[in-house]
Amino acid sequence: MSKIPVMEIFGPTIQGEGMVMGRKSMFVRTAGCDYKCSWCDSAFTWDGSEKERIRMMAPMDVFQELKELGGDHFDHVTITGGNPALIGDAMKQFIERLHQSNIEVGLETQGSKWQDWFYLVNDLTISPKPPSSGMKPDLELLDDIIRKLKNHKSNFSLKIVVFDDADFEFAKMLNNRYMGDHIPFFLSVGNSNPGEEGDISSRLLHSLDWLWGKVLEDPEMNNVRPLPQLHALVWSNKRGV
Ligand code: SF4
Repeated sequence: MSKIPVMEIFGPTIQGEGMVMGRKSMFVRTAGCDYKCSWCDSAFTWDGSEKERIRMMAPMDVFQELKELGGDHFDHVTITGGNPALIGDAMKQFIERLHQSNIEVGLETQGSKWQDWFYLVNDLTISPKPPSSGMKPDLELLDDIIRKLKNHKSNFSLKIVVFDDADFEFAKMLNNRYMGDHIPFFLSVGNSNPGEEGDISSRLLHSLDWLWGKVLEDPEMNNVRPLPQLHALVWSNKRGV
């Protein structure tokens, strides 16, 4: 049977980003990524620094562990990474098992790979990486993913992390590219130091103030929603919450 490389399972907690902000949810973080973003806040999923923690788990075992941990205190599971879109049939089986128990699924991926099981995801966030990441998204592939999701009437959104002016221009280019598709479009203020200890809320709010200013003065960004990482405002860089 195919398995899922699991880095961590935790919750229940409050989802802090984009279209699912505020939603009570359990988290499953998968290991492995096809990108190497310069500011990745979960590099431990792919850089080998915590490889001894990766567990190859059958979908049913992941489900069981979620139930042991969360009991009846959740009806939503967030799958994140790494890039969970690297996983094939095992992920489809896992999502189907959650749905059998009336548990909804949120999932975030950068849009570098298509999986047919995207159609099963209740809240799908596609988060193409901006120039500050050092990565170069394949926009034709992204077009294809957006077209399929639109045709299927999936519930999905775009979310761009913004650190600087170049990232903002990238977000604007994508917003214009998909303007006619009326896709919910979120900007998320970047956390420039995911290793910093202590309270980082004032630093993040300062960045958010800058980003709101950019959005307010730009007539091509009237439809976007610039948000903070809510969990980082409350819990700073703490992991596993
Ligand atoms: Fe990290 Fe996500 Fe970039 Fe992968 S795509 S390197 S998980 S930020």
